Amino acid sequence: MINKLIPVAEPDISTAEWKLVKECLDTGWISSIGKFVNRFENKFSRFCSVKYGIATSSGTTSLHLALTVLGIGRGDEVLVPSLTFIATANAVKYTGARPVFVDSDKISWNMDPEDALRKITRRTKAIIPVHLYGHPAEMNTLMAIARKKNLYLIEDACQAHGAEYKGEKTGSVGDISCFSFYGNKIITTGEGGMVVTNNKKLASRARLLRDQAMDPKRRYWHGEIGFNYRMTNLQAALGVGQLKRIGKIIKAKREIAHLYNKNLKGTPGITLPPELPWVKNVYWMYSILIEPALIKRDRMMSKLFKNGIDTRPFFYPVNRLPMYHRSHRCPVAEHLSEMGINLPSSTKLSKKEILFISKKIKDILERKE
Ligand SMILES: *Cc1c(COP(=O)(O)O)cnc(C)c1O
Repeated sequence: MINKLIPVAEPDISTAEWKLVKECLDTGWISSIGKFVNRFENKFSRFCSVKYGIATSSGTTSLHLALTVLGIGRGDEVLVPSLTFIATANAVKYTGARPVFVDSDKISWNMDPEDALRKITRRTKAIIPVHLYGHPAEMNTLMAIARKKNLYLIEDACQAHGAEYKGEKTGSVGDISCFSFYGNKIITTGEGGMVVTNNKKLASRARLLRDQAMDPKRRYWHGEIGFNYRMTNLQAALGVGQLKRIGKIIKAKREIAHLYNKNLKGTPGITLPPELPWVKNVYWMYSILIEPALIKRDRMMSKLFKNGIDTRPFFYPVNRLPMYHRSHRCPVAEHLSEMGINLPSSTKLSKKEILFISKKIKDILERKE
């Protein structure tokens, strides 16, 4: 019997981060001025193979900022996947535009390009694919659609730092891309986010609007309405420390996934997470589908919980939530949402724990638990 709950996620912090954060505290540079903000922006954008990075207070504010600099607002429609974290849709709503929900692809669990194409109207201005649970969306097809229909493509890469699509880093393909550094993401700054882009104009507008749109050459002159979406130096110091270890963190995530795959492969009633041959999945959350004819997902979760194993259900399809309720359905997203579980995916998991979790899942399916 394990007496401590095995968590779904936990931050992976080392002495490198501790030293950098301490430097901020010791020198008093704890707010959003200080050397670490620029350093983090430069290092993270370089990590993504993108020219410019604008650090923000969260992934949500990075999405809102990206949509704002693209000029998206009232009267516009933006395609978002139905199966995503709520922030993707909310950010669209903050601008006054309308999120239009796109169904999922059965295999990759990401935005289905064919359904995206069907949902384009003359009001559509942008597409926001989400790289769900660390698996890149079908970028070539989506980019081709965006170019053909004259739409912007915004990558919501909040769950997929360092993932790759045909050798290209997530965040480097779209017109502008957004990351989150929330405590459970691939790397963390506590709360935090970043907009990355190769477009100099978009980058400088994002930088301006992030900081109350104050004229950089004329203090307290604001030519338009901006936001305070700044990241603090403290957060950025934590981020710089995390970035030194991002390679190791991603390697650990992939090893965890491979070990789960090895142990769960061939188990009747279980679908393993996708990794299409042309992508590198970073397995932010190691996720499986449970066949409801064998056991209901929620029952599996509560049985695992009784064994000291914490899990998460997949997101509800956003178009099923009250404020986004629509008459049209996204049947694949709904199906995935009902069957999906995120298993413990912390880099601190031991091999023994992964074997234990895999065995419990099999025992539960075979009614031994
Ligand atoms: C985490 C997340 C966000 C929002 O990030 P916050 O930093 O929590 O604001 C947006 N989109 C997706 C897909 C996410 O997973």
